[in-house]
Amino acid sequence: MFSYRHAFHAGNHADVLKHMALVAVLRHLALKDTAFSVLDTHAGAGLYRLDGQAARTSGEAGDGVLALLPAQSGEADESPPLPAALADYLGVVQDCASRHGPRAYPGSPFITAALLRPDDRLKACEVHPTDAKLLAQNLESLGRGRQITALREDGFGVVRKFWPPPSRRGLLLCDPSYEIKSDYERVPQLLEEALKRFATGVAAIWHPIIPRPEAHQLPKRLKALAQQAGKPWLYATLAVGGEAPKRLPGQAKAPTRLRASGVFIVNPPHTLAGQLRAALPVVTQRLGKDRHAGFQVLTQG
Ligand code: SAM
Repeated sequence: MFSYRHAFHAGNHADVLKHMALVAVLRHLALKDTAFSVLDTHAGAGLYRLDGQAARTSGEAGDGVLALLPAQSGEADESPPLPAALADYLGVVQDCASRHGPRAYPGSPFITAALLRPDDRLKACEVHPTDAKLLAQNLESLGRGRQITALREDGFGVVRKFWPPPSRRGLLLCDPSYEIKSDYERVPQLLEEALKRFATGVAAIWHPIIPRPEAHQLPKRLKALAQQAGKPWLYATLAVGGEAPKRLPGQAKAPTRLRASGVFIVNPPHTLAGQLRAALPVVTQRLGKDRHAGFQVLTQG
């Protein structure tokens, strides 16, 4: 059984990178009149409480979105305005808090739901029994009927069923927990299948940057797949650095803390690289803990 719960990690630096890119991609898709669909293969619970027990236990949001939000408030009078992509993402977060409670944080399905137009569609998959139930309840509470569907299905399998979407415009978001080693195999398989079925769709894949050979190989494999398909790609990473947590008395091993992650996007909006190159220096400066903090935005095509 899976033990990963995104409630412990909601709003951390990895969510900041992934959700900022997600907002920018959705805004770009909404520029054209034709409807688009989003297939969110690993959706989580959809909505989180940053003052809930899980988030408070980990404290990760404090080193993530919460460290960025005050800059939006009046106290930042003398600071330069935030780069557009960062301001836009934080605006979506604040809008969620104004609707769902002061410390509510939107997961990827709620971010997408906030930016869908009436004819756009979202399908969100989750298999953890508790989170799948929460996802269904949370999405149901939005009262959007058939526009938004929660599915308790294997996110790696749904591409065969739902991709391409009928409108032939869409975003495939793949954000696994990488809790099991096979995720590192299934992610490139999913991208290969997605590109075979719908070569012009946007596909965004998040991954942790950790010292494991399969994690190191993953972005290289994704780049090779995009290149074989002759499609442009963007790869953005964010590292915050920081000390490894110490093992406390009674603990078998020291807890792990993610210090960097990346998002790989095939067929990215042409404006995205510039937006991220403007936003990530500010994010790195605010969230970075030491000289290991940094970012990169690579593109091809
Ligand atoms: N995308 C979410 C967001 O940005 O708010 C966070 C998702 S979290 C990183 C990964 C989720 O994938 C977890 O909730 C986990 O239970 C779920 N999961 C793991 N394996 C899955 C699978 N095969 N199919 C669908 N969901 C899965």
